[in-house]
Amino acid sequence: MANAEVTEEDIAAVVDVMRSGRLTMGLQTEEFERAMAERCGARYGIAVNSGTAGLHLLALATGLKPGDEVITTSFSFVASTNIILYAGAIPVFIDIEPDTYCIDPTLIETAITPRTKAILAVDVFGHPADWDAILEIAQRRNLRVIADTCESLGARYKGRPVGSFGDGSVFAFFPNKQITTGEGGMIVTDDEQVARTCKALRNQGRDADSSWLAHAHLGYNYRIDELSAALGVSQLRRLDSIMAKRKQVADTYNALLSQESSVRTPREKDHVNVSYFVYVIELQGSHTREEVMQKLEERGIPSRGYFAPIHTQPYMRPFLRGREPHCPQTERIAQRTLALPFHTNMPTADVEFVVSALHDILNR
Ligand SMILES: *Cc1c(COP(=O)(O)O)cnc(C)c1O
Repeated sequence: MANAEVTEEDIAAVVDVMRSGRLTMGLQTEEFERAMAERCGARYGIAVNSGTAGLHLLALATGLKPGDEVITTSFSFVASTNIILYAGAIPVFIDIEPDTYCIDPTLIETAITPRTKAILAVDVFGHPADWDAILEIAQRRNLRVIADTCESLGARYKGRPVGSFGDGSVFAFFPNKQITTGEGGMIVTDDEQVARTCKALRNQGRDADSSWLAHAHLGYNYRIDELSAALGVSQLRRLDSIMAKRKQVADTYNALLSQESSVRTPREKDHVNVSYFVYVIELQGSHTREEVMQKLEERGIPSRGYFAPIHTQPYMRPFLRGREPHCPQTERIAQRTLALPFHTNMPTADVEFVVSALHDILNR
């Protein structure tokens, strides 16, 4: 994965760690956790070695058990559903809002059964889910809420930062995300019990006050190392500038594509501030996505079909237990969404090149 913004300061921060002799479980991890919690307006941050690891720990810390049902979305990266399966719980897929691509809160209540324990919502492509609507239902029906904010670091919902909604939120720092640590992730939460459990489980099940060889729980090694944490601290300091640059690239795409009748550009609800993760258009005309991707490829322009619905992935078959989820919007939209080249420092000339190629292909 190329194209992450890595500066001389970032490099110096990592080199400092290498000279310090402390390569894991040190001050950089603590500082990264503190800074992320502060940024999200949350009490606790728990750094881990991937977004997936963070989601897995949050699922366990919120008490998901085998046989529990979790209402979630199929229009996401597979990890958001996989972690439900890791806990032995059952994902129950409901449909998405056609404008934001996030889980449709009006469909949640019809999916609740006596076995429903939690809602797992995703801020798709950096657009916050409708958190107030989700939390209102969760409170009334006594459900836990897991927020997969792996794509939305820095975004706001009704003025509040993502990461401050639900029982806990998880961010990811793979190199295509807004900020990177190479590999890495972060759980943020206000819940002391959730924080304590996540901390123990990431460190082989050791409680905070137990000795190195005392393991209170069945845990994992999901620790982040100090080099990654130092990179995270350094990158997080630049988050606002990184987000502004990404918005600039998205705005340029939006302006250049505004006359293209067969392209729907990303929506942004009035009450949110999107933090752009990818730039995804929805094809409206008669061209199939595969045809457009193929023709872009012939011109040397890589694009991706973000996302294939999770419930249509081959490995998911046995987990569906013969029940076909009813997600017509997800299935319709997933055939038409296309992620165009997008990164923090993408030059305007490159955006123009992509748009002009797309124009040729769509109007031929
Ligand atoms: C990136 C991402 C993850 C997982 O992050 P990793 O760090 O790659 O494990 C989870 N959920 C969503 C929606 C993501 O986009």
